[in-house]
Amino acid sequence: MEYLSLKQITAMHAEEISAAIQQVVDSGWYLQGQATRQFQDQYARYIGTHHCITCGNGLDALSLIFRAYRDLGVLQDGDEVIVPANTYIASILSITENNLVPVLVEPDISTMQIDDARIESAITPRTRAILLVHLYGRCAFTTRIENICRQHHLKLIEDNAQAHGCTFHSKRTGSLGDAAAHSFYPGKNLGALGDAGAVTTSDELLANTIRTLANYGSSRKYEFAYKGRNSRMDELQAAALSVKLRYLDADNARRKQIAQIFNTQISNPKTIVPKSPDRDNVYHIYPILCEERATLQAYLKENDVQTMIHYPIPPHQQQAYKEWNHLSFPITERIHRQELSLPCNQAMTDEDAQRIVRLLNAF
Ligand SMILES: *Cc1c(COP(=O)(O)O)cnc(C)c1O
Repeated sequence: MEYLSLKQITAMHAEEISAAIQQVVDSGWYLQGQATRQFQDQYARYIGTHHCITCGNGLDALSLIFRAYRDLGVLQDGDEVIVPANTYIASILSITENNLVPVLVEPDISTMQIDDARIESAITPRTRAILLVHLYGRCAFTTRIENICRQHHLKLIEDNAQAHGCTFHSKRTGSLGDAAAHSFYPGKNLGALGDAGAVTTSDELLANTIRTLANYGSSRKYEFAYKGRNSRMDELQAAALSVKLRYLDADNARRKQIAQIFNTQISNPKTIVPKSPDRDNVYHIYPILCEERATLQAYLKENDVQTMIHYPIPPHQQQAYKEWNHLSFPITERIHRQELSLPCNQAMTDEDAQRIVRLLNAF
C-alpha cells in the first residue's frame, strides 16, 4: 500500500478534471482569467472570507502576507512572530525571509499543536503576530489564543496548508484570524496538479496589497507601487481546483472515517495515537508516536505498508538555521524522533485501514 497515491486520488474525478483542463486549453487564456476568478470566488465563499488571492504556492502565500504587512507599516524589521517549534520549515522561512524574528513555542504533546499555555511567556515588547499552524490538519485555534491576540494587539495569521475544510465551531480555519495562507501542493487535502497557493482574508486593504505585490507590485499596467514579485496560479490549476473543491468535504469525511478506525482500534501500548480531538481534524496526516519508530517503519514496509515521517529534523536543528542549533525544545524533538505517519486518505478502503490496525496491534 502506497502512503498516498496521487494517481488514485486524481483518477477518482479524472473525467471532470480533464474536461475542465481541456476547456482552458481550448480557451487560449492561461493566466489571470475566468478560471482563476471563479476559483477565487468559490474558495473565498468556502472558507468564509471576503477575499481570496491565488498565488504560486503556499510559501509565497505566507510570505506575501508578511510582506504586505511590512509595506503597510504594520510590521518592521526585527519584529517577533510566535510560531510552533514543530512546524514545517515553510512557516519559518516566510518569517525570516521578511526580516522578522521567529519565536519558537513548544507544542502540546497530546495534540502536537502549539501549546497555548506557553504563548504568553513568549511575548515581548517586539511581538507583533502569531503564525498559527493547523498542523496535520488539526485545528490549532483556541479561544485562549484569540484572547491573547486581542489583549496584546497581535495579528493572527493562519498557516492552513494542511487543513483545508477544517472548522472551529461553525467557522472554517483560514477565516479565524486576520489572514491565512493555503497551499495546494498536490499531496495536500485540496491538491492541484502542480504548485499553487492562496491567501484568504476579509481585510480589503491587505487583500489589495497582496494582489499588487504578487503582480510585480503593479495594480495598473506598467505602474509599480511596490518592489513586487511574480507569484501567480495558472488557469489550468484553477480549473482543476474548482472541480476538486466540490469534493473536498466528502474527501475529508472519508479521511475522518479512516482515522476513526485507527483511533478506536489501534491498541498496541508501544504506540500512541493522537488524542481524540476536542476540535475538528481533517487528518491531512495521521501521526502516531512510537519509541521504536525505525523498527516499526521497517516492519510495516516488510508487510507492504508505506509510511512517512513528518518530519525527521525539527527546524531549530536544521543547518539552514545554525544559529538555533544550540537551542533545546524537548517536546518538539520527541515528536521528530518518534512520529510516524500512517496512510490516511480518501482512496483507502476500510479493509486497508483494518489491515494496518492488525499489523500495528501485532507489532
Ligand atoms: C505544504 C506546506 C507549506 C508550503 O506550501 P507549498 O505550496 O509547498 O509552498 C507551508 N506550510 C505548511 C504547514 C505546509 O504543510
